[in-house]
Amino acid sequence: MRSHLKALLCIVLPFTAASYGIAEDLDKAPPSFAHLGRKAVFADFSHVGLSLSFDALNGKARARAVIEFEVREAGMPVFDMIPSAESVTLDGVAVDRSAVSAVKDPDKQSTVRVLSVDVVPNQKHTLEMVYDLSGKVTFSQGTVSAGFFMSDLSDREYWEQYAPTNFEFDQYAQTMSVEISGTDKRHEIFANGEVEELAMNKWQVSYPSYYSTSSFYFHLVKQGRFNVSRSTYQGLAAEIPLTVYSISQSNVSTGMQRLKEYMAELEGTYGAFAHPSFTAYITDSGGGMEYCGATVTSLWALGHETTHSWFARGVMPANGNAGWIDEAIASWRDDNYPRSNGPSRSPRMLGGFSPYKRFTTQDAYSYGADLISDFDSMVARSSDSGMKGVLRDMFATFKRQTITVQMFQGHMEQALGTSLQAFFDKYIYGRTNSGMVESRNAGWDVNWSHHPRPFTQEELLKIR
Ligand SMILES: [Zn+2]
Repeated sequence: MRSHLKALLCIVLPFTAASYGIAEDLDKAPPSFAHLGRKAVFADFSHVGLSLSFDALNGKARARAVIEFEVREAGMPVFDMIPSAESVTLDGVAVDRSAVSAVKDPDKQSTVRVLSVDVVPNQKHTLEMVYDLSGKVTFSQGTVSAGFFMSDLSDREYWEQYAPTNFEFDQYAQTMSVEISGTDKRHEIFANGEVEELAMNKWQVSYPSYYSTSSFYFHLVKQGRFNVSRSTYQGLAAEIPLTVYSISQSNVSTGMQRLKEYMAELEGTYGAFAHPSFTAYITDSGGGMEYCGATVTSLWALGHETTHSWFARGVMPANGNAGWIDEAIASWRDDNYPRSNGPSRSPRMLGGFSPYKRFTTQDAYSYGADLISDFDSMVARSSDSGMKGVLRDMFATFKRQTITVQMFQGHMEQALGTSLQAFFDKYIYGRTNSGMVESRNAGWDVNWSHHPRPFTQEELLKIR
């Protein structure tokens, strides 16, 4: 009986687990679409194995990626990678590299890669690609500098700049092997994964399986280029390793001291830190960008970017439409949690864009933060802890998971015990009686002296 049951479980369980895995991620994917008279379908990655080889002598960087994925409906798999593949293999069979084409989505919001080979649903496939990455790396006198930095305020600026990846709905594990040849200078890696040094200039980096395309942090530099401080913070749930590094020693000292203060503040307000460690690269100027348990930021924006390890990279957006939520929350916190007297502003679109749009609207910062103040005044009628308490619950429920705007709406409706459909239609989805409100992709009214602006390409080149 017992062994019979065990045998039965062995047969049933793997299938069930795999089915649930697909359901969770792909339920939040954009719709499949017609391409070349056939169907392009979004994929669910389970693992990417990335091998990076840096040749310091000849100034070349080569990459080999092995992606394990499934699809739910038969069709041509969609993924993204900006570099062009030099060779492509699907399930062990060579495919002409022209089979991986760059395609506009049906709403012309973004560009994706479609592999023009139909694959069978609900079984594991392996896609292997080799490509050149030399343009993303600075080589100088036997040293290698590779900062795989990202942005969420314009299209195609996540991990697809450096490696094959998916849209933000997809959470998957990634393992990276990194090797530098042609130099006797020792290098080091700052990353938000587990870094294992195998030999001099040879490492393995393992990222957790809840990460998505906007999560990964990787910075490879010559050892000694930066001042580094390592410490630990005794968190509510675990001892958290902290790393702060910068060209400037005063940035490092002040950064580490403030980081500990922010950790205490944010754990106190929202609950225990969700990631294995925290790494901060402090720059002298510029804005900031968040990763899971990591940031590149100037000192003044460190609090904002640390908040994003709770909202943005703790509770994670499943798509571009959900990107405003965390900027609104982090900005509301920066403003010291003001409470409004109710909404009295003209509606704008925050989260009603095309499902193919991948980045956050600029209106998230000021207009979005005002909406969180509105929610705070609504919640405060029945709860002393106000919106902070609702966000604390949201973090406990959804940490290390992705959320859509509809899931946020559901969470707010549960907290308030009433439908918020009309409110969301008007102030978030941009639906009014006279039709859709205009989206404001171009017209920025963000005060960048108050909110961290994105780094420019020139700045990113300088700091990598
Ligand atoms: Zn932000």
